[in-house]
Amino acid sequence: MKRRLLSSVVIFVVSWSPVTVDGQAAEGAQFLDGIGETALIARYRFGGNSEDWSRNAYHAALHGEASYAEDEQFGRVLSLPGGRRSGYVQIPGQALVGAESLTVTGWVKVKDLTPWQRFYDLGLGNGRYLYCTPVGQERTNGCRVRMTAAGYAAETGPATFRITTGKWVHLATVLDAASKTLSLYVDGVRVGQSTGVTWPLTDILSQEDASANHVYIGKSLYDGDADLGGEVYDVRFYSIALSDRQIAVIRHNAISENTTAVAEPVAPAPDKPRESVEDAASPYGEQLTAVPDIAVETEVGRLPVLPVYLPARYGDGADGPQVRVIWPAPTDNRQVQQPGTYTVTGTVPGTALTVQAVVTVKPMSPGTSRPEQQLEPFPLGQVVLDRDDRGRNTPFIKNRDKFILTLARTDPNRFLYNFRDAFGQEQPAGVQPLGVWDSQTCRLRGHATGHYLSALAQAYAGTTYDEDLHANFHAKMNAMIDVLYDLAQRSGRPTTPGGPCNADPTQVPPGPGKADYDSDLSHEGIRTDYWNWGEGFISGYPPDQFIMLEKGATYGARNNQIWAPYYTLHKILAGLMDCYEVGDNPKALEIAQGMGLWVYARLAIVPTETRIRMWNRYIAGEYGGMNEAMARLYRITGDSRFLKCAQSFDNIDFFFGNAEHKHGLACNVDTLRGKHANQHIPQITGALETYKGTGEPAYYQVADRFWDICTHCYMYSIGGVAGAKNPNNAECFTAQPNTLFANGFSEGGQNETCATYNLLKLSRQLFLFDQDAKFMDYYEQALYNHILASVDEDNPGNTYHVPLNPGARKRFSNARMDGFTCCNGTGLESNTKLQDSIYFRSKGNKTLYVNLYIASTLTWAERDIVIRQSTRFPYADVTRLTVAGSGTFDIQVRVPQWATGGFHVTINGREQDVDAVPGTYLTLRRSWQDGDTIELKMPFDFYLRRVMDQPNLASIFYGPILLAAEEPASRTTWRKVTLNSDDLAQSITGDPGTLRFSINGVNLKPFYETYSRHSVYLDVTLE
Ligand SMILES: [Zn+2]
Repeated sequence: MKRRLLSSVVIFVVSWSPVTVDGQAAEGAQFLDGIGETALIARYRFGGNSEDWSRNAYHAALHGEASYAEDEQFGRVLSLPGGRRSGYVQIPGQALVGAESLTVTGWVKVKDLTPWQRFYDLGLGNGRYLYCTPVGQERTNGCRVRMTAAGYAAETGPATFRITTGKWVHLATVLDAASKTLSLYVDGVRVGQSTGVTWPLTDILSQEDASANHVYIGKSLYDGDADLGGEVYDVRFYSIALSDRQIAVIRHNAISENTTAVAEPVAPAPDKPRESVEDAASPYGEQLTAVPDIAVETEVGRLPVLPVYLPARYGDGADGPQVRVIWPAPTDNRQVQQPGTYTVTGTVPGTALTVQAVVTVKPMSPGTSRPEQQLEPFPLGQVVLDRDDRGRNTPFIKNRDKFILTLARTDPNRFLYNFRDAFGQEQPAGVQPLGVWDSQTCRLRGHATGHYLSALAQAYAGTTYDEDLHANFHAKMNAMIDVLYDLAQRSGRPTTPGGPCNADPTQVPPGPGKADYDSDLSHEGIRTDYWNWGEGFISGYPPDQFIMLEKGATYGARNNQIWAPYYTLHKILAGLMDCYEVGDNPKALEIAQGMGLWVYARLAIVPTETRIRMWNRYIAGEYGGMNEAMARLYRITGDSRFLKCAQSFDNIDFFFGNAEHKHGLACNVDTLRGKHANQHIPQITGALETYKGTGEPAYYQVADRFWDICTHCYMYSIGGVAGAKNPNNAECFTAQPNTLFANGFSEGGQNETCATYNLLKLSRQLFLFDQDAKFMDYYEQALYNHILASVDEDNPGNTYHVPLNPGARKRFSNARMDGFTCCNGTGLESNTKLQDSIYFRSKGNKTLYVNLYIASTLTWAERDIVIRQSTRFPYADVTRLTVAGSGTFDIQVRVPQWATGGFHVTINGREQDVDAVPGTYLTLRRSWQDGDTIELKMPFDFYLRRVMDQPNLASIFYGPILLAAEEPASRTTWRKVTLNSDDLAQSITGDPGTLRFSINGVNLKPFYETYSRHSVYLDVTLE
């Protein structure tokens, strides 16, 4: 058997006990009727307006005589008069773009039997449509859902009896693109299903020109049909195929007094058939015979760190791949309260093998270790991406330029629109607001502006290679800061000398003429009395949402609800500090300080228990990295109020287990279970920044332990996380660790791109303290296979989730930078700093770290050295570093974890005798002379990264690169491949120079070059 020893990655693991989803995840609106909100495209309750109650702000428009009426059962409902061209509702054509499957649910009460009235109708027309009529021509087949993408004659779909007139009926239709079925539900029961419906929704809607898409409620695409006559209530569009049970729950909850009994526990969506993966033969081949027992030590109070991978014994006596061991994962640290020993038993998934670990619990050692930051990154302008060694643009340059060149054409006034609007200022002529989460009434508006400030600062600092761009971004950044500075100066100050004002952030009154605080941001309803807001206030909306959060407001789209005010503020503060630290704009710091003191003043008088409730309130209390922002403000200014404020954002239960700090992450207890991933990862980066300020080791432990747990127990092969079907939310960690197969692969997607952006940030920060190569190995894995893979082919459109279900497809948005989700925001940041972690230096400039093999030039100004890295990696397995200048210093080069086939170092043409261990750094110490060249060769090899609880499902890697299988059509099952168990390369043909390969006719290519259907995980048999 060929030697392919992956260096051991150390982790500890957690328990199998059937714990319910933690309270935080279970309480919130994310589980509307047991369904994660990311699957909800739009929801119209029609209780007096046509607002979209989802976070996507696809507000509908009423036409003709459509109006609202009082109803005994539901209160206010939509009322449609009926008859030709009488009245209907139109939904933005953008809403359904990108969706392949579609569920539509809603309540309908028809008043007569006029045939062909539509519940809904949508499509391009001209033989491409999907509609549902509750009252067709015939009695027996009168209620039907029909679809075609190939003309009227090809129309297909199930039907049942016409619905009864004068009575509320719950209708639902489900188009399941993967299983190619179209189903009809009446009052929560499936009454018909057609199979062989081969068209995904994308076949009947324009993906490029959303204005061509018709989406109607109560109106037919065919002009001869009458509009619906009757009433409509709570219509929802989901981008996934809901299950029978979910449809039943939606209906039940709308009419039952006791909604929770059915809504929880949330049933995982029924798994798609997955062709007997459970019965697969040993995924490791037949020869795996044993995994030797181990012994580990820990200290009282701290759960042991157990190795994730262990060496295994194989039948032929040869070494083979290490195997993944799953250990029990306790939810507390009871087992380690006293010195002594105990034994835990791990399992090797896919086999009957077990392995024992004898844990020795030692007394707590005296003195506490306080890791110190050893390294510094280089300023962005000192590292410039180069073309490859054949003069071609690298994938990094391509993505950088998609963003930089589009960013250079943006109008800063669009990003100032909401701020001027909040302060009641005139907009410059012709300025259009942004869309999506920055539209007028969206309670997250202003978030994109924060990302934009960071991106402008980074783009300015990073474009030292192009004078025009450099000047462009400098001007844009300064223009933004000038306006924001002017607005912030107005807060809490009189409009005319001696006029009324309130300078105190804690004494902000309700808006003029209002009895209470509200989140009304409409043109008519928004308050603009900035003189009452307290000094220093700046945001994309008035202060009410912050105050309402303290008073218990929940997440939602009503005027007494909010959407994460501190999340938005974190983006703005981070943007301002980036403009100061990265972009050298001193006024930006002044704005940040003013708002920092506003936050400090308010939170200083909020009781601890209230704060814990605030930060645990789903979405409403999501605060991004406010703790990081405030600790950073302390680092920059030295004002200790900011550090105190940072600690007031401690997520105490998550970090420390409880108010007594008895367990939690700091004690190596997994508190990630079922939590919203991207809500919590920035809090961890904040814990590390708080450690820098306070020196309290527990904060460091929180970050260090989180990283291990997250990357080992919850991570997909592209380096992303989340995507749970239990709890049923594509943005959450799975309910239990090490259960990606059992509880992950949500139908709604996985791998929110923000989460990986934040994990990269955390990894890099931890590496600056602890030069364990695992951090930069992860960095490389996620940078190539998620961040690089998250951008569209020819424009800066980028992904939210990156789905990894078989035959999935990436969806990109925001190509024109005019409508940002969170991930479009972090995408803007990622792609304006792609060079930021290629090199680090030790404090004192004694050592250079070469972390990533990317063509680039480093200007190490402090040593008067220029390092040029010339390569076409990963299209070749070699890179060359050329030193300009001279001096004695160490160069630490990363020997990747995957470089198991050797790592060869040649200096000035002479091969060096080195002991290069995969997963470590290798020191090259020398008195370097001008013109010295170092060549690093690290042969790529094929290997598998397996799903930990279903190890026959695996991704194929070649060196650092994940190879995705091209898929001609959607799939319901995992693609099967058979590979040679001694040497995968025996089964794979292709060209390493282009990274195009194939296995028995299945084409593989880098996931970052994949824009159509793909399978990232394959069902692998080794023979
Ligand atoms: Zn996001």
